[in-house]
Amino acid sequence: MEHHPDRNPNNHEAEERFKEAAEAYSVLSDPQKRSAYDRFGHQAVQGNGGGGFDPSQVDLSDILGEFFGLGDMFGGGRRRSGPQRGEDLRYDLAIDFEDAVFGTTVDIQAPRLEACKHCKGKGAEPGTGATTCPTCRGRGEVLYQQSFLSVRRTCGQCNGAGEIIKKRCTVCRGEGYHQVERKLKVNIPAGVDSGTRLRLSNEGQPGPNGGPPGDLYVILKVQDHPVFDRHGNDLHCRIPVNVSQAALGAELQIPTLEGAETVKLPEGSQTGTKFRVRSKGVPHVNGHGRGDLYVHIDVKVPAKLNKAQRELFEKLRDVLPVENEPAEKGIFEKVKDYFM
Ligand SMILES: [Zn+2]
Ligand SMILES: [Zn+2]
Repeated sequence: MEHHPDRNPNNHEAEERFKEAAEAYSVLSDPQKRSAYDRFGHQAVQGNGGGGFDPSQVDLSDILGEFFGLGDMFGGGRRRSGPQRGEDLRYDLAIDFEDAVFGTTVDIQAPRLEACKHCKGKGAEPGTGATTCPTCRGRGEVLYQQSFLSVRRTCGQCNGAGEIIKKRCTVCRGEGYHQVERKLKVNIPAGVDSGTRLRLSNEGQPGPNGGPPGDLYVILKVQDHPVFDRHGNDLHCRIPVNVSQAALGAELQIPTLEGAETVKLPEGSQTGTKFRVRSKGVPHVNGHGRGDLYVHIDVKVPAKLNKAQRELFEKLRDVLPVENEPAEKGIFEKVKDYFM
């Protein structure tokens, strides 16, 4: 209260201290945040609250432990026998283009570990119990002398539990867990795209020693569409027209995801001419409105002519001016635009 802003009007320093104290309180009162804070400090908590998915959020002490055998120096000899949050899982899901645009519900079968029912996840055959680990004498960690440093490490025999089982469970062979396939429903909101991550809370691996389960992340891969290319929330398609439609103008039938529409092609349209059809694109996944549909005109010259057509083209040739000027410099920009 000493640093509360109401008691310290216009005192910037007190305000900062109050913020610090508030942050410390919220960190300590939330075990998950607290462990993120312990591992990564201030920055981890500022982000998404240490949700644990970010692949950069690995246990630093584990990595250092792997490489240098020094990991537990950083954890201050933290024992691993307490409740821990289960691992997050990833499930890759391919969905159709239209389902990504309009949303859908998909049934999946996701594998995860579940506690063995026979031994209740303990790994010991029921009735056999456990015995104190002879390597660490129940402490869960061992002390190594390395030159002038003495280093604590998690005991390798009991993995920090401090005890080892006498007889392994006959059903799970001492693992305590076995893999099960779970049927889950995934709600896919309209407007998702490849790489969109959907989180299913508490559907990850169970937490060791009675800790909370992790989350399941469904990572979407959206299949291509034969007609439409997607760029963000806009759709693009190419519509071929013949030379006479391009020269004279025409009523064009164009596809949209909700059926055909008619647009007016003005006379003198060229390859690369582009129309925008408003709000026929992809809905914004966390908002309102939709992207647009862009129709790119592709003028096709007939590859084969019958006799009558040939005669008409010959007449045209005799009356049309000859195009013998070099192409403008700007044409490459236009080509780039067209292939966008
Ligand atoms: Zn041990
Ligand atoms: Zn078992």
